[in-house]
Amino acid sequence: MKDTAIIVVDMLNDFVTGSLACERAQRIISPLAELLAAARERELPVIYSNDSHLPGIDHELKLWGEHAMIGTPGADIIPELEPSERDYIVPKRRYSGFFQTGLELLLRELGAKTLIICGLHAHMCVRHTTADAYQWGYRIIVPTDGVDSFTEEDYLAGLDYLRSVYGAQTPTIAELIKEL
Ligand code: ZN
Repeated sequence: MKDTAIIVVDMLNDFVTGSLACERAQRIISPLAELLAAARERELPVIYSNDSHLPGIDHELKLWGEHAMIGTPGADIIPELEPSERDYIVPKRRYSGFFQTGLELLLRELGAKTLIICGLHAHMCVRHTTADAYQWGYRIIVPTDGVDSFTEEDYLAGLDYLRSVYGAQTPTIAELIKEL
């Protein structure tokens, strides 16, 4: 798929095994590793959209406690999804990967028209990132086994919202790889 970029949201130590650990995130790691390998093989850009919070400033911390603090191991990408040298890393301080970051400029320069958005959580940062992607006019794909949430309910509600409000396509990663 030409003009396609992959956005991996918050697959960071703190969200998988750390301060905001999500046990369900384990099931998406190996499909995501396959998706990223396939994308790199086809020379599609892989962009990590990572929480990177400033202590004592970011208001999200009042709600969630300290997590993914800038410069700490909790803010590092999980070792199973280690970025390659050609991947991009775009730090964020809010739910959306687009809010006050360089993500839109980067995507424009890469010529991306379709975004495959995956990672954590389907009903929060993935949702807010998808909202902005929709508003910028991108075509959106959210693989069902490439996103998750703390609970099954949040996961299903999250996917449903992305489908109905942003027209997101929701294939499995295996289906998606065949079309890449
Ligand atoms: Zn955060």
